[in-house]
Amino acid sequence: MLDDLARRLGDRAPAVEVTVPTVVHVLTDGRRRAPDSAVRSQIATLNAAYGGRYGGVDTGVRFVLEAVVVTRNPSWFADPLGNEAAMKSSLRRGGPETLNLYIAQLSELVLGYSTYPYWYDGGPLLDGVVIDWRSLPGGALRNFNRGYTGVHEIGHWLGLFHTFENGCGAPGDGVDDTPAEEMPTEGCPAGKDTCPGGGKDPIHNFMDYAYDRCMSEFTKGQAVRMHEMWSAYRTTLTNPDPR
Ligand SMILES: [Zn+2]
Repeated sequence: MLDDLARRLGDRAPAVEVTVPTVVHVLTDGRRRAPDSAVRSQIATLNAAYGGRYGGVDTGVRFVLEAVVVTRNPSWFADPLGNEAAMKSSLRRGGPETLNLYIAQLSELVLGYSTYPYWYDGGPLLDGVVIDWRSLPGGALRNFNRGYTGVHEIGHWLGLFHTFENGCGAPGDGVDDTPAEEMPTEGCPAGKDTCPGGGKDPIHNFMDYAYDRCMSEFTKGQAVRMHEMWSAYRTTLTNPDPR
């Protein structure tokens, strides 16, 4: 994947600022759904997190809400991944630059799911992010209701791996300034340090699995990676698509 990224980027410098047009799809069974106020809070939380207002760097990535589309479909609401192709094929809007954020019901075990930027060409209609409606700010999922599930999943959509990718082994998550960690973080264990050298585990990073109250930051290296990915895969103007 990183070879492909380098090939696509060529001599082009990554974008300095990225504004992501965002379409939110609120699924409902007619009774349960994310309230409009929580959707607005989620967008504000994305901009705060990616702007470095909770900690870490300002990544230069911002989100602009283009539309909120409410769809009543009990099956899609209750099992958005089991109905992924049908739901997304019916609802998805825009091109590779448009974030389609589907808000439905997943489970306590799977709070969200995202595609990666380099999957777009192979399945443009499947591109997007699905999160549990109870993970939005003020939602019912205890420990995961500050909207950081959305922050995390969109990190994947922008090309980031988990900070525990490859455990203690190289190349880890492919980013230099996130210390390697053996396993995902649970809760908020101060001092967790699972790999020799490199520093303590990045338990506060949005791309780990800690509780929302423990998460606060992206690193500079992650910001650079997201901009590289954007330039290579999501900017329609500069994507050379050599094939
Ligand atoms: Zn993840």
